Amino acid sequence: MAPQEVDRILESVAAIHDVIEAEDYVAVRTVKEDPRALLSDHASANVACSECHGPIKGEPVKVRLDGHYHCLCCRSCERLYLEKYAALKARSSGVAPRGKAPPPRTR
Ligand SMILES: [Zn+2]
Ligand SMILES: [Zn+2]
Repeated sequence: MAPQEVDRILESVAAIHDVIEAEDYVAVRTVKEDPRALLSDHASANVACSECHGPIKGEPVKVRLDGHYHCLCCRSCERLYLEKYAALKARSSGVAPRGKAPPPRTR
């Protein structure tokens, strides 16, 4: 094999490698920048899960309860939160129908 030919082969391999790296880079950039773009769309920069209070990565799971939106990080948190909310509501419905009970007066 002539040395120039080896050079050409190495060059084309390097070119393929470059392309793969460039595609990798674009993929990483897209994944990293998507949530940021999503967050900047919303007014609040930090959306935390209502169930586990962890940061929500990517698309939050939104549930609407009594006219309020709650953001959950995943489906299992959504289920847990809904269960908790239902239990809370069932318990509080007899005590405080309006949801927000006034603070108890001690004197
Ligand atoms: Zn969560
Ligand atoms: Zn979760």
